[in-house]
Amino acid sequence: MTQNQTTLTYEELLAAISAPEGQGAELKDPATGAVVGRAPQASTADLDAAVEKARAAQKEWAKLSHAERSEHLNRAADAIEANAETLAELLSREQGKPLNGPNARFEVGGCSAWTRANAAFPVEPEVLVDDESGHAELHWTPIGVVGAIGPWNWPMMISIWQIAPALRMGNTVVLKPSEYTPLSVLGLAHVMNQVLPEGVLQVLAGDGELGRAITSHDGIDKVTFTGSVETGKAIMRSAADDLKRLTLELGGNDAGIVLEDADPKALAEGLFWGAFINTGQTCAALKRLYVPDSLYDAVCEALVEVAQKMPMGVGLEEENVLGPLQNKAQWEIVDRLVRAAKDGGGRVLVGGDPDPDQDGYFYPTTLVADLDNDNPLVAEEQFGPALPIIRYTDLDQAIEWANGLEVGLGSSVWGTDLDAAAEVAARLEAGTTWINKHGAIDPRVPFGGVKQSGFGLEFGVEGLKQMALPKVISR
Ligand code: NAD
Repeated sequence: MTQNQTTLTYEELLAAISAPEGQGAELKDPATGAVVGRAPQASTADLDAAVEKARAAQKEWAKLSHAERSEHLNRAADAIEANAETLAELLSREQGKPLNGPNARFEVGGCSAWTRANAAFPVEPEVLVDDESGHAELHWTPIGVVGAIGPWNWPMMISIWQIAPALRMGNTVVLKPSEYTPLSVLGLAHVMNQVLPEGVLQVLAGDGELGRAITSHDGIDKVTFTGSVETGKAIMRSAADDLKRLTLELGGNDAGIVLEDADPKALAEGLFWGAFINTGQTCAALKRLYVPDSLYDAVCEALVEVAQKMPMGVGLEEENVLGPLQNKAQWEIVDRLVRAAKDGGGRVLVGGDPDPDQDGYFYPTTLVADLDNDNPLVAEEQFGPALPIIRYTDLDQAIEWANGLEVGLGSSVWGTDLDAAAEVAARLEAGTTWINKHGAIDPRVPFGGVKQSGFGLEFGVEGLKQMALPKVISR
């Protein structure tokens, strides 16, 4: 075990991060309404102090070699692993996602894996020219203090995607988590800060106003943001005043296209998890599925069969793999869109009828067939457990529909002939197009959106470069 690192109980961790009784913001379990804890709320004066501390810490942190910073990151990963079960419990209670399935334990495991991957990537100066005309090298230097702002759907994992590459490249971080899931991120940072040098990682909880203060703070050199398209636009405007560097990972409405030669039974489970991972609250989840006439009934049937065997319920009960929506506002968005689907002639294959007497923000797993492509459930980002299945007869038409929105985060193509699938993949307007899977991410493979899903990349060496300034030395 690393020096200073301790394995905390759930109660110890909560006590370390919580505001005193009567202060801060109260957070409730979205499955039960039980109080999880109280998050201290940062003022703009707290932000000023944190930025000053981050600037001082950055001077020393940037002097370390890559190997030394990687060593720190690996120790932080050790600390996450030693506290994995406690962190998963906190995440499950506050976010609502089950411990099991591709949920809370999976997310905490991703945090240590991504931290280690970012520690391991090679970062070398690139020799661009070396001939009789001269010698030119491209170096990657720290930016300074990175302000990170995150959403509530994968709060720990997305924080790590922001923190780990920023620290590796010699920056320090001031992070504001979503007001819906601050305890998860405060808990994660508390565990990491057992072993990281003072001041390199600070988490301040607050709402969008605090976020706005970060994006306009003159002591912050770069903003990395993950959240909605609308907030992304506001941040871009705010960051324009002093031309802060920006990475924007925004919303999507991912399309999947099933091809004529697909095997519906073989693909059903992959399609299901592509759409319903984290109960559909995933930026790059499958959110509209285009299926050829010839396979339509078979795909619908196979999906219903999988959907009916996936238990939904309170996160801490081990049998559940789907949880509640994280908050009431999101529940209302999903409900409005499913109602619009019914009004638009959609045929509900499963779900679609939330139980008004059930505690918590549960929305049943919902599959809707026979919808027009312009129905709101298809055209808007539903961000919940509802998947519209749209029939097509002409592949070109399906591709046009898939490309017809202003967002382009992920997409997928499903079929047996991989070359044919790759040809369709090349025609889809999205940062990533998966074949026979959806939403599968890998720390080595860059991820980011096109169109209004944002710009900039995360993961891999490309992701590290987004957290650095290019510097050419030429002689
Ligand atoms: P949101 O945009 O409402 O909030 C995200 C964060 O921005 C929160 O911390 C919030 O407090 C803060 N914020 C709000 N107004 C702000 C402002 N004016 N200036 C600065 N910060 C401000 O998003 P959300 O509802 O928390 O998250 C869901 C959205 O995030 C979905 O659209 C989803 O697709 C997207 N998302 C994208 C990715 C990706 O990698 N592309 C990943 C996860 C989620």
